Amino acid sequence: MSLTVCKFGGSSLADAGMFVRVNRILRSDPARRYIVVSAPGVRFAGDEKITDLFYRAHGDDCSMDHSILARIFERYAAIRDALAPDFDLEGEFDRLERERDLSLDYAASRGEYLCAKLFAAYAHLDFVDAAELLFFGADGAVDAAATNRAVRRRLLPLERAVIPGFYGVSPRGGVRTFTRGGSDVSGALLAAALGADLYENWTDVDGLFSADPALVPNPKRSLEVSMDQMERIAEAGAKLLHPDALRPLRGTGIDTLLKNTFAPGAPGTRITERPVAPVRCVTGQPALYMRGDPGNSGSVHVCDLPLAGSIRVAAINVFGMSSAKIRRVVREIKPIHIIHMRDHIQIILPAKEYANTIRAVHAILMEEA
Ligand code: ASP
Repeated sequence: MSLTVCKFGGSSLADAGMFVRVNRILRSDPARRYIVVSAPGVRFAGDEKITDLFYRAHGDDCSMDHSILARIFERYAAIRDALAPDFDLEGEFDRLERERDLSLDYAASRGEYLCAKLFAAYAHLDFVDAAELLFFGADGAVDAAATNRAVRRRLLPLERAVIPGFYGVSPRGGVRTFTRGGSDVSGALLAAALGADLYENWTDVDGLFSADPALVPNPKRSLEVSMDQMERIAEAGAKLLHPDALRPLRGTGIDTLLKNTFAPGAPGTRITERPVAPVRCVTGQPALYMRGDPGNSGSVHVCDLPLAGSIRVAAINVFGMSSAKIRRVVREIKPIHIIHMRDHIQIILPAKEYANTIRAVHAILMEEA
């Protein structure tokens, strides 16, 4: 029987209605046995992610801000009241409030922990804490051997299980998180350890597009992308996947399928190590800072934090553009600077011209030559 590890992102679990939707997706395929969840994300523009609330609630003295904790409680309570009335949310929050000296990583990890426990209670599935499965070594990297052993021993006997993403345990026994968006990495580690047939990564878009559909009308969706290229697209700022999420799957033959929780019937985008044609796409980084003299290439330094003397810029990363089209971009768009990377170009431009320029660059990129 085939085995799929599924990871659902925060927007897929933002409220009770989304929990129901995710459960329906799981139940529609018996291969979907192990489910890694993020913390509930935003429900509407201006809403706050649970993880952001936990980060804000954590004080310098390692205690938790009660009013922010109360807001977090309300979010989970709304889901609990609708779907899992017997779940002891009060007990979970009492324990959290009583904890002394809790670390920032521990506080941040509670978003995923509570989401997974609540989902397991609602869907009548086993809950397995990531602190029993994912181990970091003394060097800060994941200890793959210990992780693989624990994952197989704990999970394979279970028909289905829910696991919180984003964290594991350090050699000293404390909770340790990945960087933001790290549930993608948790899911990939589990898929690799279990020798899964497929890693499904469920978000709120249909997969990889030639540009962000929120900025560019009718971008083209890719049905397939190579693991190498997807890794670089993620590093270049595409919010689709954590840039470290593909590494555990290298050499395993396990594909990652990007799927949309809001449109489960859509084919999504398959990320594979098999050779596939490179895709054309643009990704952007709207808030960067540049220091140096663009007239003298090589002396420009672009970073994501303001440096003394730096100016606010944006970057557009373009994959699959021919040199003739790059010359057109230089002529027609007159960017501040173009940096040639190994397999893409980075166009540096004034931050305020970002949205218009991404549309113009995308139009040039997608024109049939
Ligand atoms: N909840 C965490 C974050 O917001 C981790 C994740 O969603 O993957 O970064």
